[in-house]
Amino acid sequence: MKFDMISVVGFPRIGENRELKKWVESYLDKKLSKEQLIQNSKELKKKHWQIQKEHGIDLIPSNDFSFYDTFLDHAMLVNAIPAGYKNLGKEELDTYFALAKGYQTQNLDLKALPMKKWFFTNYHYIVPEITSDTEFKLSSTKPFDEFEEALSIGIKTKPVIIGALTFLKLAKKIDVSIYEKAFWVNLLSVYIQILDRFKTLGAEFIQIDEPVLVTDLTQADIELFDNFYRQLLSQKGNLKIILQTYFGDIRDIYEKLFTLDFDAIGLDFVDGKYNLELIKKFGYPRGKLLIAGIVNGRNVFKNSYKESLEILNTLSNYVDKKDIVISTSCSLMFVPYSLKFETQLDSSKKKYLAFAEEKLKELNELNILFNDKNYTQNSSYIYNTQLFEEMKANKFSDINTVVNNLRDDDFERKPCFEERIKIQKDVLKLPKLPTTTIGSFPQTPDVRKARSELKNGRITFEEYDKFIKQKIENVIKLQEEIGLDVLVHGEYERNDMVEFFGENLEGFIITKNGWVQSYGTRCVKPPIIFSDIKRKRPITVEYIKYAQSLTAKPVKGILTGPVTILNWSFVREDIPLKDVAFQLALAIKEEVLDLEKEGVKIIQIDEAALIEKLPLRKAYHKDYLDWAIKAFKLTCSKVKPETQIHTHMCYSNFDDLLDEIARMDVDVITFEAAKSDFTILDSIKKSNLKSEVGPGVFDVHSPRIVPKEEMKDLILKMIEKIGLDRLWINPDCGLKTRKEEEAFPTLHNMVLAAWEVRNNL
Ligand code: GLN
Ligand code: ZN
Repeated sequence: MKFDMISVVGFPRIGENRELKKWVESYLDKKLSKEQLIQNSKELKKKHWQIQKEHGIDLIPSNDFSFYDTFLDHAMLVNAIPAGYKNLGKEELDTYFALAKGYQTQNLDLKALPMKKWFFTNYHYIVPEITSDTEFKLSSTKPFDEFEEALSIGIKTKPVIIGALTFLKLAKKIDVSIYEKAFWVNLLSVYIQILDRFKTLGAEFIQIDEPVLVTDLTQADIELFDNFYRQLLSQKGNLKIILQTYFGDIRDIYEKLFTLDFDAIGLDFVDGKYNLELIKKFGYPRGKLLIAGIVNGRNVFKNSYKESLEILNTLSNYVDKKDIVISTSCSLMFVPYSLKFETQLDSSKKKYLAFAEEKLKELNELNILFNDKNYTQNSSYIYNTQLFEEMKANKFSDINTVVNNLRDDDFERKPCFEERIKIQKDVLKLPKLPTTTIGSFPQTPDVRKARSELKNGRITFEEYDKFIKQKIENVIKLQEEIGLDVLVHGEYERNDMVEFFGENLEGFIITKNGWVQSYGTRCVKPPIIFSDIKRKRPITVEYIKYAQSLTAKPVKGILTGPVTILNWSFVREDIPLKDVAFQLALAIKEEVLDLEKEGVKIIQIDEAALIEKLPLRKAYHKDYLDWAIKAFKLTCSKVKPETQIHTHMCYSNFDDLLDEIARMDVDVITFEAAKSDFTILDSIKKSNLKSEVGPGVFDVHSPRIVPKEEMKDLILKMIEKIGLDRLWINPDCGLKTRKEEEAFPTLHNMVLAAWEVRNNL
């Protein structure tokens, strides 16, 4: 075996120019043949393996490629497919896309499997279903085919397979529990077959991903894990098995791993700082490789060689140096592909950044430095340390003054909720069960076209502005016709709720090609928070004011909240998140106060990602929520009592977090409920939450036109649970991704449903 190895946990699969996205979309549109899709993808994979090889990576992953999602690939691999899809009689690839996207014919309506965020990242995986009918068996050849594809160009890859505990815990269990022994027995036999196939193919290393080990584990989880792997590892033969973890530390199971026959353990030293403490405290088992995740797979800033070498040197006190493998902290799929496209970016900023391709180089340099006794004299080390010295000097200059000057009453709104809501009711004079939407209206092709024409200079700003105003005029008219009570301007000017604010605030870098996969064929381009955040000028005021000028009904101003901007951006690592959040909050606060000054009576500050980004371990919740909620409160503590503050959250599982959300002290909160069976209604009743609430009455992610009666029943049910007085009627999120012909009829039905209930009170 080679010493001083380098490992990559996973590589971006979408292609440097989002090629894969385009091919898959063309295939689904029947504009590209299956053969062509497969052929193109093979070339892409080869390119990705090759580039890793060129950078001296020893443990190059395969099976990290996917046409849509690797979790869905795994479900196909082990045959965890709902019966309806299996009986479609389609080829594997088409069954696969049916699971991902749904399948509709005249007499068949198969819904797509749901998606969920992959731990705390912005990537969504497809959630497979497991029922008592699920029969695990090996049913795809994808991982083996990929291994052979790489072998054919002389690269022996390290196949990546999702581990059994992570798979079973993250899948949706319908009327079954993961403690059912039969599942484990059957799954074990599938994994044994997987290993056998790889043995025959001549594989050396297999990476089994078990990120679920970084979450809070129960004793039962640990036993399941122990049992499964004890048996699996007894069958591994000559294969070397890497247990790969990421996104945190594995405190609940660390010592147990000493007794299991893994050949290597992959630990994340970026998001799992405590892993280092575990090693210091308990040591490290002899003879196992340590895959040391030190190059951040989730952020775009350069690695600090000084800090990384400190970690590596500490590790070498506990682990034989030859057994330490330098690695990424997690897959590189969470960062954009390459900096080489960012030609517009000033070198004074660019020099601090590293995307996936540049991170390969970092791994290589770190490996050289780690094996060089005199590394402090090495030019790459000297350059890197100087860069970080500069960066330190280049700290946000304002942040300390701003943050240190905040006082307790900057975070508190006065008077209390009960008094405010009375005043607001007098001013707004809204009917019972007020109807509203979450902000965006369908972004039709003409909107996207106008935006891209503005970017390419094909239309002037004046022309664009005129176009947006026309859209606003139409949407105001439409909302009046439908009969909504609180209107919105439609958010046509926003490409994305975070990137838009990133583009308009100072302190952000907006990339040209910094795409990362969000799910399937959808990519996002997160902005990068680089220096002091300031509001240069009002951002949303003009369009919202314009919208308000067109109607006598209240128009709600819509802003993105500081925690959501923070959580959906890349943020510098040398400044506490909390401080950045406060600085963002102060910028949004200026916008809030300007809207108020212009007569906007209702302001919604979206915090879609506040709960979503809750740390994975309960132990860290409090600290996070304390500053996150304070950042939110900072944005609106100084508004007048009659200004009504709304927030919106689109995360389904916050039933037991409502007491925390209550601390946000908002006047109205709208959230997703349709998808979570309205369990939230009981939780609201039990919680300290006083705010008025708008649990969404329809799911905006479905193209279905929802009948009036269905929503009416729901409204009646909601009234029964939480009373009439505090209830709002709205969809569960923005309508941006819907088509107009889907969204408008449902909105109309929603308003009719509210009216009918209202009139029968
Ligand atoms: N106001 C945003 C919209 O309507 C909210 C989106 C979100 O919650 N993700 O699109
Ligand atoms: Zn939402």
